[in-house]
Formats: sequence, structure tokens, C-alpha cells
Amino acid sequence: MHDLIIIGSGPAGLSAAVYAKRAGLDTLVLEKNPMSGGQVLNTYEVDNYLGMPGINGFDMGMQFREHADKLGVEFKECLVCSIEDAGEKKVISVDDGGRLEAKAVILATGAVHASLCVPGEERFTGKGVSYCATCDGAFYRGKRAAVVGGGDVALEDAIYLARMCEKVYLLHRRDELRGADILQRELKALPNVEILYSHVVEEIQGEDSVERLLVKNLKTEESFALEASGVFVAVGIRPVTELVAPFDICDEGGYVAAGEDCATKTQGLFAAGDVRKKPLRQIVTAVADGANAAMSAAAYVRSCL
Ligand code: FAD
Repeated sequence: MHDLIIIGSGPAGLSAAVYAKRAGLDTLVLEKNPMSGGQVLNTYEVDNYLGMPGINGFDMGMQFREHADKLGVEFKECLVCSIEDAGEKKVISVDDGGRLEAKAVILATGAVHASLCVPGEERFTGKGVSYCATCDGAFYRGKRAAVVGGGDVALEDAIYLARMCEKVYLLHRRDELRGADILQRELKALPNVEILYSHVVEEIQGEDSVERLLVKNLKTEESFALEASGVFVAVGIRPVTELVAPFDICDEGGYVAAGEDCATKTQGLFAAGDVRKKPLRQIVTAVADGANAAMSAAAYVRSCL
């Protein structure tokens, strides 16, 4: 039986692994993807992590993982399917049929993109509809693309796409953007970006791939077609907390209720990073959560001796 199993190796899971290993815990990290780094891997440029201005997200993910590897953290590539609370131990089932045991578990499964839920979105996903501008932007070089959303990620996506697309539309349902001022200024200075405030996507249309969006102006109630070959959806995130649904520790938004010590009301179960209910979901807060969760888990494991 391990002292600690960490589920997920994004910034929160990797930070937890570093702190747990240094605290002397027998630690295993479970990650479903072949690469660690989580959402950071899909980030073109990270400009707000202290000491690493402008770092490429992929490089950052690799550096985080290298740090954990250097300390000898043990990793296993697998999808966690369930967590069972068996009193003094937690039993984790994984997709290769294995069952792993630990005294404590840190849930660091992060978040995934939210969907628009409009006709055509599912049908054209991978054929013009994308949730990652850094991953797919290059396919739309010289073409027209639309970004949907008004937060930091939407603004960053539009700025990134404007470097290669002929024209970028930013569609936002509100009449002002939510993203950081510095990003708003950068975006508004770009000649090939048009911001459509108070507009929503009603449908994504095309034959074999995206050709146009049916868009509605919420002020005038008028709908019209907007020509674009790519649609980048950046309308928020959804926490990945299905694994802890049986423990009844999530709020109505699906986030795990846990304080700064990352302890949930289930003994031995901790939550770190984007899964946790908190005001700011960023790399720096995920990393901080990882450290706090590992320290709380170490104290819990010691208390079980
Ligand atoms: P994640 O990064 O989501 O990692 C979760 C990990 O858990 C993943 O590796 C996933 O594969 C794994 N996992 C999930 N379920 C399972 C399972 N059942 N079994 C095994 N493994 C599982 N933040 C900033 O600070 N600055 C930025 O500039 C910035 N830009 C961003 C740009 C984009 C496009 C996006 C999407 C996010 C950005 N963020 C940025 C936010 C930041 O990336 C997140 O806050 C951070 O990655 C959260 O870390 P995490 O470890 O909690 O979760």
C-alpha cells in the first residue's frame, strides 16, 4: 500500500508530488495522458508565472515533470475509473483492471473546456471546431476564424490566431470583455480582429467542415451568417470531479469543497488545483494547492501510524 496516490499530473499534481516526495511519503502519481502538464501543455505562452515570463506552456509542463522525475517520483500512465473509501485506506481502480491502495489520495484532475451546446458543434469538432487555438490554429493560416468567449483564454486565442489568420472575429455574449486589461489592449490594437459584442452562436454550419456560423445579435435580435472556417470555443471550464461524486463533497458547480489545507470532509481525501472551489484558477494557485495538499496528506498519513 502506498502512503499517497495523486490523481493527475498537471501543475497541482506535480507540485504535490514534489512536496510529498520531499516529505518522505511513498508516492505514486497516476496520469491518463502520455505527457504530464495538464492544461498547460495547450497554452501557447504563459506570461504570469513568477520567474518564467513568456514561457511556452509545453516547455513549462516538461520542466515541471522533470523536477518531479529528478526527485524520483513514481508515475503510472492510466485512467483512474473509481475511488473507494475503505476506512483507513482508499482503493483506486484503473483502466487496466488494476486496483491500487493508498492511505491518502489527492485529487488533482483539473478541468476541461465547456461546450457551446449548439447544433453543429459536436458534428464539426475536429473539422473546424476546436477548443485549443495553440493546437489547431495553424490549420487556419490565411483563413477566417472565430473565437467564442470573453475571458483571458478567448482573448489569448484571438491574439494568437490573428498572427496567422486573414481575419479573426471575437464573439462575446456580453457588452464588455472579462479578460485582463493588458490582453484587451493588445487585442483591440490588432487590425485584423473584429470584436462582436452581445453576439451568440446559434448554429455551426457547413458540408464536410465548418463554413459559416449562424450568429445572433442579442441587442437587435437579428441573426446572420458569418463566414469562417474555424471556430475556437473558449467559454470556460468544467471541473473533472466525477470520481468523487459518491463522496458528496462538491458544490452545485461541481467544484470540490476544501479549504486552503485542501482537506475534504472525507478523511484522507484531498483536492488540489482547478478541481477545488476557489476564486482564482491559475497555474500559480494550482501549484500552491499541490504543496498544501501534500503537507496536509503527510500530516494525515503520520496521524494514521
Ligand atoms: P490540469 O492542468 O487540468 O491537470 C489535470 C491532469 O489530470 C491532466 O493531466 C489530466 O490528464 C489528469 N487527469 C484527469 N482525470 C484523470 C483520471 N481520471 N485519471 C488520470 N489522470 C487524470 N494559467 C495561468 O496561470 N497562466 C496562463 O497563461 C494560463 N493560460 C491558459 C490557457 C489555456 C488555453 C488553458 C486551457 C488554461 C490556462 N491557464 C493558465 C490555466 C491553467 O492551465 C490551469 O489553472 C492549471 O493547469 C490547473 O492545473 P491542475 O493541475 O489543477 O489541472
